[in-house]
Amino acid sequence: SGIPRKKAYLLKVIFIGDPNVGKTSLINQYTNKRFCNYYKSTVGADFMTKSIVIEDKVVTLQIWDTAGCERFHSLGTAFYRGADCCVLTFDVTNNVSFKKLDSWRDEFLIQANPQDPKKFPFVLLGNKIDEKEKRTVSTQRAELWCQKNSNMPYFEVSAKNNVNIEKAFYEIAKTALKNS
Ligand code: GDP
Ligand code: MG
Repeated sequence: SGIPRKKAYLLKVIFIGDPNVGKTSLINQYTNKRFCNYYKSTVGADFMTKSIVIEDKVVTLQIWDTAGCERFHSLGTAFYRGADCCVLTFDVTNNVSFKKLDSWRDEFLIQANPQDPKKFPFVLLGNKIDEKEKRTVSTQRAELWCQKNSNMPYFEVSAKNNVNIEKAFYEIAKTALKNS
């Protein structure tokens, strides 16, 4: 009797992408509602948690940040192991960070070694859309890349101005839930 219980889920989400694209800022904006212009990069993997309600489920996201050791092969298997969703992040003012998405995706699949690599859920975030004059990667170019990658969901965000962050993380949580 009484109030129906919601089912609880603990899901692991990992953020990868080139240094400086804003991974730590996005996670900090979502979990703490804060933005800083400078972050000290700490060494080692680090995670934050935040719970969100999706229909009859309480989803606790365990969000792993690379904490300043983004070089390939330096993150270790503990970082990748058991991920339910991988968030690829680039900076819309930085072409190189966009071109590196293929290698980040491949690196993830090699390290995480999921059961069905073709079906593993990724979400793409294009950050720093507040920097309108400096923008070099168009929406169209990012959307085309997503089309070629199993229609990966794509969000244009700004950690600085808190644009689209809630929406993006809601999709990340739903995507992770599907895979759990
Ligand atoms: P990470 O290395 O990927 O974790 O990137 P950080 O979160 O440390 O951010 C790198 C730099 O970009 C910092 O100086 C941030 O203040 C800045 N930054 C992060 N997000 C944004 C954003 O949405 N807009 C702008 N203009 N700068 C941002
Ligand atoms: Mg960082």
